[in-house]
Amino acid sequence: MTAAGESAQGRDDSGGPVLVLNSGSSSVKFAVLAPASGERMLAGMAEKIGTPGTELRIRRHPDHVVTEGLPDGSYRAVISRILDHLAEAGFGTAGDGARRPGQAHLAGVGHRVVHGGERFTAPVLVDDEVIAAIRAFSHLAPLHNPANLAGIEAVRSARPDLPQVAVFDTAFHQTMPPRAFRYAVPEEWYARYGVRRYGFHGISYRFVSERAAALLGRPLAELRLVIAHLGNGCSVAAVRDGMSVDTTMGLTPLEGLVMGTRSGDVDPGVFGFLADRAGLTIDQLTTTLNTASGLLGLSGVGNDMRTVEVKAAEGNERARLALEVFVHRLAKAIAGMVVGLGRLDALVFTAGIGENSALVRGQVLARLGFLGLAEDAEANARHGRDTRGRISPDGPVVAMVVPTDEELMIARDTAHLTNGGSTLGDATALGK
Ligand code: ADP
Repeated sequence: MTAAGESAQGRDDSGGPVLVLNSGSSSVKFAVLAPASGERMLAGMAEKIGTPGTELRIRRHPDHVVTEGLPDGSYRAVISRILDHLAEAGFGTAGDGARRPGQAHLAGVGHRVVHGGERFTAPVLVDDEVIAAIRAFSHLAPLHNPANLAGIEAVRSARPDLPQVAVFDTAFHQTMPPRAFRYAVPEEWYARYGVRRYGFHGISYRFVSERAAALLGRPLAELRLVIAHLGNGCSVAAVRDGMSVDTTMGLTPLEGLVMGTRSGDVDPGVFGFLADRAGLTIDQLTTTLNTASGLLGLSGVGNDMRTVEVKAAEGNERARLALEVFVHRLAKAIAGMVVGLGRLDALVFTAGIGENSALVRGQVLARLGFLGLAEDAEANARHGRDTRGRISPDGPVVAMVVPTDEELMIARDTAHLTNGGSTLGDATALGK
């Protein structure tokens, strides 16, 4: 589906399919991928984890979907069941004797782990010490890291023979200089509590920068990119010579752009103000900023950009305003990212909104003419599909659409490390 070979940077990713697991607080998404070709051999999702109503859906072929209820909704039971299904489908492990002719053992399991703190700058093979470190960063991502760890531990207990790799959302941004990652707060907050900008969506940024370089036919090591990852969560990153030098998300994924339900930047003074005026607690305020703000809070019509676009076109004033604020803040953030680059070679749009909303892309480009950006309306309407991603007219500064594939990035990292690649080698290779 993607030209994986083009951007695999010469790494030997052969060595069997990889199970990619994204264990969230209430769901587990999984897929079996061939890391070299990007082919999805099987995919599925377990929802309502931790409840007696846990439901597992597995798609083996496009037309063969299995759905079943699981009486025990614990991560351990759910993941054990997923591994049994995989073994039945021929994706076993050396230990379970489930290999069938013509099908390969799993090379390993790759996990998305949200927070790697300042410790993890690249993907790592999981061992006791790595598990302890991920646990130690759980206070930085209380909704995510414990679920990610539960996934790792469940695989360990079901198939202790299977190598596992942790791929971090924060790791790519560890190359940011202090001027970009430090907040202007007392030193002790940083030294003692780790209060700094970490940044997220790093797996996507890594994939998209490699792919953008391949599409542009230029070495990543010489490119200055601003990448806008616009999904349910939205952020922008400045990528200089393949390394992140700045990004909009911070200590948590709440900072920065307007998102589906998250506010992005607000004056931190709002906490004291509303605690006083409305009697709201810190918990209530944090929840509201995370779940009832953003496009949803502004528009009142929903958190989905498609709905906001339709309602705005119908003349709904709040939806129109939501779109305007979204685009204004996004354009402002993109321009801000150029400060860390010194020069802009390409602006890259990715993820749900970035890949599909010609309207948002067009409006952003219209505001950024002073950076040398412009829209090729026809190419933009076709999402750059016939133009190697390009949605701008010929010129030195390119605007482009590059579909992201975080699962494939995790699968490649897993294949690389389980094939004997070193973490250090990864950090170097991936940073270039
Ligand atoms: P996640 O961050 O959960 O992976 P996605 O990357 O799938 O999410 O992005 C979800 C967002 O993409 C939603 O806001 C959705 O409205 C938006 N989106 C998807 N398709 C379109 C479209 N055709 N036009 C505008 N927005 C779209």
